[in-house]
Amino acid sequence: MKDSYGRTIDYMRISVTDRCNLRCKYCMPEGIRCVPSEEILTLEEICQVAACGGELGIRHIRITGGEPLVRKNCCHLVRQLKGLSGIEKVTITTNGMLLKEHLEDLVEGGIDGINISMDTRDRQRFREITGSDGAEQVLESIRLAAARPVAVKVNAVSLDLGEENLVRMAELAREYPVDVRFIEMMPIGYGKAFPVMDHGKLLERLGKLYPGLEDDPRVHGSGPAVYYRIPGFKGSIGLISAIHGKFCDRCNRVRLTSQGQLKTCLCYEDGADLRAILRGEGKAETRRQLLLEAIRQAVEKKPAAHCFDCPGQITEQRSMVMIGG
Ligand code: SAM
Ligand code: SF4
Repeated sequence: MKDSYGRTIDYMRISVTDRCNLRCKYCMPEGIRCVPSEEILTLEEICQVAACGGELGIRHIRITGGEPLVRKNCCHLVRQLKGLSGIEKVTITTNGMLLKEHLEDLVEGGIDGINISMDTRDRQRFREITGSDGAEQVLESIRLAAARPVAVKVNAVSLDLGEENLVRMAELAREYPVDVRFIEMMPIGYGKAFPVMDHGKLLERLGKLYPGLEDDPRVHGSGPAVYYRIPGFKGSIGLISAIHGKFCDRCNRVRLTSQGQLKTCLCYEDGADLRAILRGEGKAETRRQLLLEAIRQAVEKKPAAHCFDCPGQITEQRSMVMIGG
């Protein structure tokens, strides 16, 4: 699918739940209420949207959340999505807490990539950020996933936890064949209350810490990360810099929220209410046609760029846990 700015839209992020087993301060702090489960799309409804996406040119689907692995039958969903016409790649973004018990199923289901979110390896800091004593569990997930024939990336939101934290996170890419990506905090939901670390400065710091750091021109996926390699490292270091390295001109994605809204930009609340169509009256074929049309129209109206630099213009009020990152 092309949008009105000529960008190819072939990537759909699907949030399968707004529930999570962690309480990251910038995403889903303690006390946040979840929506009633009947408001969340069923797996069948998700597949119907994904099938329409595949028909329209979506080639890569990423399953996210909330925490996708708290949703029952998430691994089964991977299998179903992999079987859809047009869908070439299905990946998942997880906090890693439940990955150990689902890894086998995901790999057998044909998962093409696993992104594991972890901001710090330090046990105490991990607890402060997520409300859970899970650092060792997530590290074990990283180790186990890295040993499987699947692309693994570690995603760390840049929280400026000091040089030691930066080095310990980067070193994961030396220890394991995983890419470690640092993500600039985006002013969405509870993230608004956190400072944004300038990745230009982060890159300088990395360059001093690792003098051999050099550009890595290889393609690592379908996202906006810019990669660097360091001699002796098995994986690369990636920077996702939505604020200081705006990449909207290369945007290739839409997002389906767990409640069935198709969002075309993180910054704005607008989107197509696909759940209303899925649960509407009429024959299945009529609803399918309506879904196709609604997706087409939403993509047609996709904004040129985010407005994170003008906070007053951000209309998205939902938290990241509702949207899926
Ligand atoms: N629970 C899963 C996880 O943590 O990987 C998937 C959902 S989570 C919302 C997806 C990603 O969004 C995580 O890597 C998380 O760190 C990131 N994230 C959450 N809030 C953010 C924000 N305000 N800015 C940038 N990234 C954010
Ligand atoms: Fe849960 Fe992921 Fe949000 Fe953390 S970032 S609260 S793990 S959804």
